[in-house]
Amino acid sequence: MDDRLVMAGMRQEDADIEASLRPHHLREYIGQNKVKNSLSIYINAALKRHDALDHMLLYGPPGLGKTTLACIVAAEMGQNIRVTSGPAIERPGDLASILTNLNAGDVLFIDEIHRLSRAVEEVLYPAMEDYALDIMIGKGPTARSMRLDLPKFTLIGATTRAGRLSAPLRDRFGIVFRLEIYTPEELARIVARSAGILGMPYDEDGILEIARRSRGTPRIANRLLKRVRDFAQVRSDGHITAEVARDSLNMQDVDDLGLDRVDRAVLTAMIDKFGGGPVGLDTLAAVTGEDAVTIEDVYEPYLMQLGFLMRTPRGRVCTPAAYEHLGKTPPPPKPDAPASDNEQMQFFD
Ligand code: ADP
Repeated sequence: MDDRLVMAGMRQEDADIEASLRPHHLREYIGQNKVKNSLSIYINAALKRHDALDHMLLYGPPGLGKTTLACIVAAEMGQNIRVTSGPAIERPGDLASILTNLNAGDVLFIDEIHRLSRAVEEVLYPAMEDYALDIMIGKGPTARSMRLDLPKFTLIGATTRAGRLSAPLRDRFGIVFRLEIYTPEELARIVARSAGILGMPYDEDGILEIARRSRGTPRIANRLLKRVRDFAQVRSDGHITAEVARDSLNMQDVDDLGLDRVDRAVLTAMIDKFGGGPVGLDTLAAVTGEDAVTIEDVYEPYLMQLGFLMRTPRGRVCTPAAYEHLGKTPPPPKPDAPASDNEQMQFFD
C-alpha cells in the first residue's frame, strides 16, 4: 500500500522537502531526549580524544529520524558521511570498495542493515573490529588471504527491527539506541519548525491538529503539513488554522488519530471476523491483504502506542479503546480470564 498518505516509509513526494527540513545539528533535533543526551556525551568524549565515535546501531520504525541522526553525528564530529543501504550492497566486493574509499573519521551509514547478506556481513566483522579488510588473492589451492588496513571510521547502522540482526553483527556495535515514537507535543514542534522553514503562517491549534494525526512520526508530520498547505492556499490564503488542517486531512481520509483506511481495516477485521482476537499475524495479513512484515513494522507500533492493540503470546488482541474509536461496542470482559498476567506486551520479535 505505497499510496498511503500516512505510510511512514519514504515516498517520492517527500524527497523534495526532506532535504530542506532535515535538521543539521543535535540542538535542532527535536525529542528523543535520552538518545540526544547520551549521544552528546559520546560525541564530546570522542572529540576530546581526537578519536572516531564507536560504531552505532539505531533502531525503530521508519521515519523517526535515524538517517537524520546519522547525518547530525557526522556533522557534529566534523566528518563526512557516506550513505548506503543493506540491499544496495549486493556483493562483498561492493562493501570492500566502499570501505577502501573511506577517509579516517568518516561515518558510514548503512540503512536497513538487517538486509545485508551473510557474505557481506563477514566482510564487515573485521572492518568494524580491527579496521581491516581480508581479501583473497588467487583461486583454488594457491589462494591466500591478505589483510588490508582500513582508516578508523564509524559505522552507523539503522534498522526497523533489531531482532532481525544477526547476533555477531549486533554485538559489534558499541552504542545502541532505540528511537521512540514522538509525542504530539514534540511533533507539533517539528511541524512548527518545518512551517517556519517553508514560510507558512500558522495557528498553534492548526499545527497541533497536524501533529495529532501524524502517528508519532516526523516524516508523516512533514508530509501532512505539505498536503495541508495546498488546501490552506485555496481556503485561507495559506494560513494553517485548526479548521483548515482538520478539513483537509479528513478529506484525505486521515482521521483525528492519524488512522487511515488500512489501519481501520486491520482493526475492523480483528473485531468483526475474530471477536477482537487473539489473531495470528499471518492470519491478519491474509485477511487484510497486507504483508505480515509491513503490519508488524509499520501499523502495529502506532496502534500499540495508541493502546488499540496488544501483542500477546497467543496473537494480536484489540482493546476496548479500539472498539470505541471505530464506534463499536466492546465485548464484556470475560469473567474467567484473569487480568492478562501472562499476556505480556511484547515489542520485538
Ligand atoms: P528514518 O531514517 O528513521 O526513516 P529520517 O531521518 O529520514 O527517518 O527522517 C524523516 C524526516 O523527518 C527528515 O527529513 C526530517 O526532516 C524529519 N525528522 C526526523 N526526526 C526529526 C527530529 N527529531 N526533529 C526534526 N525533524 C525530524
